[in-house]
Amino acid sequence: MTAVLVIGECDTNFVEKELKDLQVFPAQSVLVLGNESLSSSYTKVLSEKLQISITLVETQKNQHVHGIFQLKCVMDGSKINNAIVFCPNQIETEIQGFCKEVFPENYSLVVKNAGDVRFIHETGEGSFADRFRQYLKNLEPKEAVTVYRSRVIPDSCNHGFSSRSGGLSVYPGLASLNMCFSARKKDSRAVVKANHNLLAKAGQFDVAKLVIAKAVHGKDVWVYEGPEPQSYDGIVTNTPGVTVAAPGADCNIVLFADPIAKACGAAHAGWKGILKGIIQSTVDSMKKSYGSDAKNIKVAIGPSLSVCCMEFGIEGVEMFSPIHKDCVVWKKDCPKPYIDLRLAAVTLLEKEGILLNNIDETSVKICTKCDPEKRFFSFRRDGSQFGNQVGYIGLK
Ligand SMILES: [Zn+2]
Ligand SMILES: [Zn+2]
Repeated sequence: MTAVLVIGECDTNFVEKELKDLQVFPAQSVLVLGNESLSSSYTKVLSEKLQISITLVETQKNQHVHGIFQLKCVMDGSKINNAIVFCPNQIETEIQGFCKEVFPENYSLVVKNAGDVRFIHETGEGSFADRFRQYLKNLEPKEAVTVYRSRVIPDSCNHGFSSRSGGLSVYPGLASLNMCFSARKKDSRAVVKANHNLLAKAGQFDVAKLVIAKAVHGKDVWVYEGPEPQSYDGIVTNTPGVTVAAPGADCNIVLFADPIAKACGAAHAGWKGILKGIIQSTVDSMKKSYGSDAKNIKVAIGPSLSVCCMEFGIEGVEMFSPIHKDCVVWKKDCPKPYIDLRLAAVTLLEKEGILLNNIDETSVKICTKCDPEKRFFSFRRDGSQFGNQVGYIGLK
């Protein structure tokens, strides 16, 4: 599948011939970037030539970046990976520059120079990256950011769990508030960064002081005041104003707050991390680095793949029964066990000395996969193009 963007009044014969040569005739989706004066005459001729109805993308303040971004939105909406952009000779460099910013490298894009043609020139200043960033900053997301909160985290901390709504990502599995960049995914770094800004605005924290744990399914924890390890699934801090966060897309996201020692933390705790000891090492880091007493630590568990959908291999019995016998659940007529990862997390927290009363497992008890409203990202539901929510927390 191939999408086509035509910028300005490129020669319709040239466009038709090129598409035939590239064997993408007729294309799946054709956009023309122009203004009202182009819409009536030019698009009609082109539409007849290409045998497809054409969408006119109105130039906003002569922004070519708008056309490139709209092309990506159309492609993402239909999961199209390939595109051809016809552009006037005079702005080929500029279009190449914007394409590089808007599209991650896993898309296939061809920019075709259509020679000297009539067009409206971009009037921006600064690098392509800066101009794309500025463009995203002015975009209005379709919905508001929705943040879920726990009842046990004290007011001395600012915290929340982000969800899918309120961001600028368009690709189905990533739409719309994807919080993590990955070279394999259909989001540019700039869009992920814009999503961070949107969450920070809604959550009222300083995005410049936001640090997000990796999701490598290990047990390492970064004590924020010390050196940053190579990789880590948890971060703890006692620095006011710093917001620590952990991503998740089925895995548990666990937030920690100690109002007495004035410290907090966030951990990504999927089944591998739980077995490796991420829960224990996060609590341990708070005890060792900030003198936290386990009985003062409040813990909130965010949205995750619940036992209803956590089908596992038979090896799960040996792995999770030692934590708590009820972690392994058998369903009628199903030969495979289901694992209750939330119970595993709660059990391990209690073993670390956290009081059951201080563990909130219910405020955001929504299964990421089978939630009918699809409020959260889920790898098991969406496959390889999945986005990430985060749980974040910071001392005020
Ligand atoms: Zn994970
Ligand atoms: Zn479920």
